[in-house]
Amino acid sequence: MQKAARLISGLYGLNKHHAIVKLHEDKKSKIVIFQHKNWQLGKKALIMGIGKQIIEIAIENGATVAGIASTQALKSSSSHLIYTKMGNYEGIGTVKDDDTLSNKYLFKWPDSARSVLVIGLSHPEGQPELDWWDGRGTPGNRLLIESMKLTRQQIENNLKVNTRKLHYYVEKGGIFIKDAAVLAGLGCIGKNNMLVTKLYGPRIRLRALYLDVELEPTGPIAFDLCAGCKEYCRRVCPENAMNKKVPLFESINNFLDLPARDGAYNREICNIRMEKDVSKSGKKSAGEQSLIKYCRKCEFVCPIGKKKRRKTPYGRSIKNQIKSN
Ligand code: SF4
Ligand code: SF4
Repeated sequence: MQKAARLISGLYGLNKHHAIVKLHEDKKSKIVIFQHKNWQLGKKALIMGIGKQIIEIAIENGATVAGIASTQALKSSSSHLIYTKMGNYEGIGTVKDDDTLSNKYLFKWPDSARSVLVIGLSHPEGQPELDWWDGRGTPGNRLLIESMKLTRQQIENNLKVNTRKLHYYVEKGGIFIKDAAVLAGLGCIGKNNMLVTKLYGPRIRLRALYLDVELEPTGPIAFDLCAGCKEYCRRVCPENAMNKKVPLFESINNFLDLPARDGAYNREICNIRMEKDVSKSGKKSAGEQSLIKYCRKCEFVCPIGKKKRRKTPYGRSIKNQIKSN
């Protein structure tokens, strides 16, 4: 039975040979299993088995890491609790059409959505083009979209689990995806305000999907990847965007995951740099967008996972698509 429990719990990722490997073993889940009576154990094991299969499907379809979070837990995550205190912000990448900014869709998720699948795609320094904005998005995000599309089809067709797409913007029914990734055990919020993962550091991009089934979450995991680090991310920032606590957070002390953990990340200042990056890119010709290479200095300098991963180990399905394009 112990072996079975080991098989159905934990997080999975890809090793350099593209084989699925366990990244973490969730001891807490194992205890929960053994505390259940036999019929409950069967049900729980089945649900956890589905979770494991969903993660495997995601990895097979190109995700570098994947995990599952509970929507209930998400509702009380740090970003959800502080969002309404943070006031208006219209920097690059935020929703702009004001009429959708009412509270109509804010944190309004379908009742049937009980879990969230979070997938991540490694964006290593050796492949900066994955993150270059070309007016339609980035190549890395298109890979993530394709990966999630295939994953969704297979979850619905093979496992008969209903899924729902979720919007990118929280103002339109989306979730705070970094919080979801932490709750799914994929990493922790780093001092650079990004999700920092064990194997890929902060050089990873995320996407999520609602699942209409209550699954055992694969996290959160209590680890601190920034412990003992000399805060290279904060020192390298050309705008000093993480030098001091943003006044807004001075009065908020009871959150552990404030932006950049201690409220030191200033999105307005970081946005100044993004605007400069846009200006630098210029225009190719009328209506044509040249590539925007947004600042990633605080990602690239982070030592976590840096040595091991130079190239994204794409899954087979994504690889085939790249070849056929
Ligand atoms: S550079 Fe250091 S402090 Fe900054 S995110 Fe990476 S590990 Fe954390
Ligand atoms: S993206 Fe660049 S400007 Fe923004 S916080 Fe990181 S290093 Fe600073």
